[in-house]
Amino acid sequence: MSTNRTFTMIKPDAVEKGHIGAILDKITASGFKIVAMKMTQMSLRDASEFYAVHKERPFFGELVSFMTRGPIVAAVLEKENAVEDFRTLIGSTNPAQAAEGTLRKLFATSVGENAVHGSDSDENAEIESQFHFAGREIF
Ligand code: ATP
Ligand code: MG
Repeated sequence: MSTNRTFTMIKPDAVEKGHIGAILDKITASGFKIVAMKMTQMSLRDASEFYAVHKERPFFGELVSFMTRGPIVAAVLEKENAVEDFRTLIGSTNPAQAAEGTLRKLFATSVGENAVHGSDSDENAEIESQFHFAGREIF
């Protein structure tokens, strides 16, 4: 996968609230092309592996429980400078600190339930995309 791609999830809170369409609209209006997408639900094992980097953090249990409580929408997005530009589009982890117009400012409710995931590096974008998609599902 080339470095002009990133991986995202619309998290269970945003799916529950019916924000899938509005979030995808903002993403594509911001110049990202969807090159893979699916609705799926992570198992406890999936979420523990996906967020393994946080396993020593006090919020790990809460994070895994939140991310597995309902379906998510996983997608791979393409744009020049995708990882950094998508992190800018989603805004700060804590929506209270997120800039106006960002996805977390618009759709998130708390630092835990923050609506959207975005990869933090090209390397993690690749790992996370392969975690959720087979090669033939990425276009
Ligand atoms: P993401 O990886 O989901 O895009 P992020 O990179 O902005 O978010 P991370 O530091 O990677 O933030 O944390 C991963 C996720 O763990 C956060 O998005 C949030 O759902 C949860 N989280 C982070 N910090 C806290 C906290 N202090 N309390 C509860 N949940 C938290
Ligand atoms: Mg992160």
